[in-house]
Amino acid sequence: MNYKQIGFKCGIEVHNRLATKHKLFCKCPARFSTQKPYKTIMRKLRPVAGELGEKDIAAIHEFLKNKTYYYQVFKDTTCLIELDEEPPQPLNKEALEIGLQVCKLLKAEIPEEIHVMRKTVIDGSNTTGFQRTALIGTNGILETSLGPVRISNISIEEESAGIVEKKENQTIFRLDRLGIPLIEIGTEPDIQSPEHAKEVAEKLGMIIRSTGKSQRGIGVTRQDVNVSIKGGARVEIKGFQDLDMMPEIIKNEIKRQQELISRGEKPEEQTRVAKPDGTTEYTRPLPGGARMYPETDIPPIIITKQFLSKIKIPETWESKLNKFKKILPGDMAEQIIKSEYLDLFEKFKKIDPVLVANTFTSIIKDLRRKGFNVNNLTEKHFKEIFEQYKKGKIPKSKIPEILETLCRNPNAEIKVEVISDEQLRKIIKDVIKKNPDLVENKKIGALMGDIMKITKGKADGKLAMKILKEFLK
Ligand SMILES: [Zn+2]
Repeated sequence: MNYKQIGFKCGIEVHNRLATKHKLFCKCPARFSTQKPYKTIMRKLRPVAGELGEKDIAAIHEFLKNKTYYYQVFKDTTCLIELDEEPPQPLNKEALEIGLQVCKLLKAEIPEEIHVMRKTVIDGSNTTGFQRTALIGTNGILETSLGPVRISNISIEEESAGIVEKKENQTIFRLDRLGIPLIEIGTEPDIQSPEHAKEVAEKLGMIIRSTGKSQRGIGVTRQDVNVSIKGGARVEIKGFQDLDMMPEIIKNEIKRQQELISRGEKPEEQTRVAKPDGTTEYTRPLPGGARMYPETDIPPIIITKQFLSKIKIPETWESKLNKFKKILPGDMAEQIIKSEYLDLFEKFKKIDPVLVANTFTSIIKDLRRKGFNVNNLTEKHFKEIFEQYKKGKIPKSKIPEILETLCRNPNAEIKVEVISDEQLRKIIKDVIKKNPDLVENKKIGALMGDIMKITKGKADGKLAMKILKEFLK
């Protein structure tokens, strides 16, 4: 398809949670609670006229649903600020510094004063009815295979509350997620094709990860894609689960708009959500434009030249990729640079680059496919596994199994009973002695079966095979 001809216009917004110590406007830890909620509070939100005297159309749309919102409160990760019972504290400096690193990587202009703003939120996902956001960079550039894509805005924002349950007239949220710092990067509509959109999303993800301070796991990265064609309307698609599906989802949206136009109907501006099968579903009208107003509880932050000069530019992903290509075979370097485990790979690559990269790409992917909760795996787990592997206490072949156990129970002990070479040789000798028929007929598979049964999987299969073949010679 000639995308220029159909007037394809596309821009993207990428959000990523930052791995800071504290939340954006309070001192609660920037992570999910490990406890059960100790209280649930109830709230209702109603629309009021904004600065321009008008009520937001999307806010009215939500209000008419007459919803009640419940918020779960946690002892270890929420305070009065998440409940909107206390004014916010100053903007988290660590988050600001990470954001400014991203600005520098994207060659963006950084304002001399940063203002925290309030952005109307209408779905109950914030107890205040708005989301705090601060623009920290404009006019950046992202280099891509199809030329530069202009970056219009880079912002630091607070994460919304997480949905626990959604019913017809009520939604239950958890407040531990509210206030975790997010970085948001928005592009101009310079994206040239659905495949290009995927590339841009991937590259922006890599830039955020090169700060070494992005969170990982399901849901920490979110992309919103804005698409329109000639004669169509701007549609915002949210909720991409898998970047590989992005081109197809965009193509389907083009098709949907084209079909409407061919029937003589005019597509409407709206927000849609991506479905796993590549289609999208209507969610609500696009929110109106005038949704931002100043956060008067937080004074502007002055960005001095001296402060800016102290913000280090992290190593670019291109430079990292070249380094990784020297220590990793095939396309592993590319896989790991796109991986959310990039920072952990860098920490542990010294131990055995291929083994560590393989763990963070193939093994993790495999566990995810099998339905294991890989979010339970922490840096501490990997550290211990790789260190024990280095000391020869864990055979390579056992790593997937250990990770499976830890996914099920993050507190499980990382321990593998390994049979020493000597013990293994003795077991193999015994098996050979007891099975002269199998030995004579060279039934290696059957002999190996016996050996593995006796060792109960505590021996390295490859090593056992090597010894067995030695003995049979
Ligand atoms: Zn708090």
